[in-house]
Amino acid sequence: MNYYNEKTEVYLNGNWVPASSATTSLYDQTLHYGTGVFEGIRSYKTPNGAKIFKAKEHFERLQYSAKVMHLDLNLSVDELIDLTYETLKRNNLEDAYIRPLVWAGPNMSLTPTTNVYVFICAWEWGKLHGGGHIRVMTSSYRRPDPKSCHVSAKAVGHYVNSILATTEAKQNGFDDALLTDANGNVAEGPGANFFFQKGKTLFTSPLGNILPGITRATVLEIAKKRGFDLQERYFKVDEVKDADSAFFVGTAAEVACITSLDNVPFTVKWEDSLGYIVSNDYQQLIRI
Ligand code: PMP
Repeated sequence: MNYYNEKTEVYLNGNWVPASSATTSLYDQTLHYGTGVFEGIRSYKTPNGAKIFKAKEHFERLQYSAKVMHLDLNLSVDELIDLTYETLKRNNLEDAYIRPLVWAGPNMSLTPTTNVYVFICAWEWGKLHGGGHIRVMTSSYRRPDPKSCHVSAKAVGHYVNSILATTEAKQNGFDDALLTDANGNVAEGPGANFFFQKGKTLFTSPLGNILPGITRATVLEIAKKRGFDLQERYFKVDEVKDADSAFFVGTAAEVACITSLDNVPFTVKWEDSLGYIVSNDYQQLIRI
C-alpha cells in the first residue's frame, strides 16, 4: 500500500511538509514503549464536497486518549478539524482515510514527557475497503484488561494485541478475529466492534472492556430510529454461535457481514438480516 507520493503534504508539529521528508527521532518514547494515541477517520465525497464523518466525535476521542496517556495535546477539536480539512484540500482528497497521530518525543524514562508531537496524514480510500462476508475465529488472545490500561483510549500500544489476534486468525485460515475480555465475555474485533442478531434483537457488548467505537454509537442510533430491539449486555462465544447473523462495525470496516464464527455458519442470509438494513442506512448517512 502506498500511503503517499512525491506530492503528498502532511501536517507535522505546526508545519506542512512533504510526506517524504517528515521524520522523527529514534529516541521517541512512543517508539520504545507505545505511549502514543491516534485516530482512524474517514472522509467521504458528498454533494457538498469532502465531508469528514463524525469529525467532532473522533477528535474528542483523540483528546480523551491523549489526556489519559499524559500527552499534552495543545490543539482544540475545532483546530484539529480545520487542520484535517486542510490536509484533504492540500492533497486533493475526498474519499480518504485520515490518520492523526500524537506521540511522545525523546525520553527513555518511564515518565511522561513534555515533548508531544502531532502528525496528520491522509490517503485515498474509496469504497470496498472494509469489505464484508468475513470468516472469523475466536482469538486465543484477550483484549487488554481495563485494570491494566485505558481500554477506552485509542493508544498505540494496545494494537500489539490487535496485531497478534489478526495474525493468529490469518495463520489459521480465517479473515479476522473475535476477542474476549478479561472476564471471558465477547468484547470486540482487533479493529472493530461486534454485533449479532438473534430473532428480532440486536446484541452488542457494553462499554467498559472495549473501544467505544464511533461507528458502534452510530449503529445504535440507526437501530433505535428503526425501532429494533437492542441489548447491550455481556455474552459468551457460545451464545454467538447460536446467533442468526453477525457483523463488525468500525470506521474502516463500516458495517461488515460475518458469515461464520469458528466455522459455525450464521444461518440468516445477510440480505435478510437486521445488519443489512443497518448497513444500508449507514451508507446513506456517510454521504450526507
Ligand atoms: N475497536 C477497536 C479495537 C478499534 O481499533 C476500532 C477502530 N477504531 C473500533 C473498535 C471501532 O471504532 P470506530 O467505530 O470509532 O472506528
